[in-house]
Amino acid sequence: MAPATIVAGLGYVSLRQWETAADQLFREQARDVAAMATEKVEMMLRHAEDAFLDRLQVLLSGVGVDDRTLDELVAQSRLVRRLYIFDRRGRLLHPTAWRDDDAAVFRPLLAQITPGFWDRGGKREVVSRGEVLLVALLKSHGEPVLVAFAPDLDALREDIFEATLGGLESPTIVAILDHQGRPVYSRASLDRAERVLSVTFREGLPSWSVAVYLPPGASPRQTVRRQVVIFTAAFGALLIVILAGLVLAWRLMRREAEMAQLKSDFVANVSHDLKTPLSVIRMFGETLEMGRVTDAARRQEYYRVITRESERLSRLIDNVLDFSRIEGGRRTYDIVPTAVEPLIRDTLEAFAYPLAQGGFKVETRVAPDLPEVPMDTDAVGQALANLIDNAIKYSRHRRAIAVDAVLVHGELAISVADEGMGIPAEEQRKIFEKFYRVGRSETQGRRGTGVGLALVKHVAEAHHGRVTVESQAGAGSRFTLWLPVRGDA
Ligand code: ADP
Repeated sequence: MAPATIVAGLGYVSLRQWETAADQLFREQARDVAAMATEKVEMMLRHAEDAFLDRLQVLLSGVGVDDRTLDELVAQSRLVRRLYIFDRRGRLLHPTAWRDDDAAVFRPLLAQITPGFWDRGGKREVVSRGEVLLVALLKSHGEPVLVAFAPDLDALREDIFEATLGGLESPTIVAILDHQGRPVYSRASLDRAERVLSVTFREGLPSWSVAVYLPPGASPRQTVRRQVVIFTAAFGALLIVILAGLVLAWRLMRREAEMAQLKSDFVANVSHDLKTPLSVIRMFGETLEMGRVTDAARRQEYYRVITRESERLSRLIDNVLDFSRIEGGRRTYDIVPTAVEPLIRDTLEAFAYPLAQGGFKVETRVAPDLPEVPMDTDAVGQALANLIDNAIKYSRHRRAIAVDAVLVHGELAISVADEGMGIPAEEQRKIFEKFYRVGRSETQGRRGTGVGLALVKHVAEAHHGRVTVESQAGAGSRFTLWLPVRGDA
């Protein structure tokens, strides 16, 4: 977590620095673009104006200049929308009368022309009533005349702006704004575009400006923001992975600890289970050996106890050995068609003594028409023995056991039911895990190693079958071993 946090911190700082640097660089580039654009436009405009003025001067110097020739010149010059010529006293020389409402625009302009300009001559731009007018002093037969013309907006757009800015290679949008800041021309739609900066013209179009816009979503800040979002998401994913790893490691550790506890319980349980029958056998053996038992019936009883306890010992040892074979992957099964009824009968017989001694009522119901079922007889017999052994071990006052064998949807179901202590629902899945024993204190009094049901489950699965349990705490349990009847199942 600590390295991840440091990486995140460093990443964040460097992204912020990058953001500022990218922004600065971008602004510089935009300023260059704008400066270049203004220069180009100014130059182009100057050329066009000079060309027009030159032609006008030629006309004015010639003889026989009249309104018609001047109108023709204006009509030929796309850039010029309106042309007015005044003499030094402010009299209108051309045209003979004001057209439309031009007087409102052109008359006030005379007030802005100083006597100095009349003497010096030259060319300048004047803004009159919001319109840019170009004013120049020309000579008509030795007399200075003031020439003023209003440029044509469409010609400006097409011949000057488009010609100079149209081919500009830049991810930004370059636009021309008039003196009120309204876009007059732009290379692309300015909708939602963000103004970066603007540069005003120095000549040609006073108080007009070239502005650089960013198309929506293209600002370097936004690009960096996107990176920040991606970075944050990636870091979040990394954190989640780390957290998941921690949780997983913690759970694994807990499981390992539980397993270690279960294993040590298992060792204690096995030793205890081995010791008890051994000491019984030894005690009865010694008693018999000393010849102290004279009563034949008692002697017979002692022999039976010895046999039963050694049977129990063998079962226990078989279980542990099989379990260790299963764990080591060495358990093999010899699966052959087997009659079910004798198998159940033989297995129950092995428990005849403990069942009788415990006063158990045993009910066996084997369906009469059962086919032979492919199985490893010893393994299934051992699984069944484990289920019966459990039914005996975990019964309390109601001592009744029912063993059933029926066919259900092509499967043989052998079930062992008791009316004993039952298993709480939340434990029912865990009891099939190795070494697991329900609530140690409750089963403590009963001998067991916790591998019996794990073995049953393994046997069932080795036959492509399964084992299920239905149980209610306090009411009893029914374990069912399901085996497929067809060998290829
Ligand atoms: P164990 O050697 O403890 O009997 P098993 O694997 O055979 O080990 O059983 C696991 C646990 O399942 C037992 O400890 C017991 O708590 C529970 N259990 C098994 N069979 C029954 C049953 N018939 N009735 C109640 N609880 C049972």
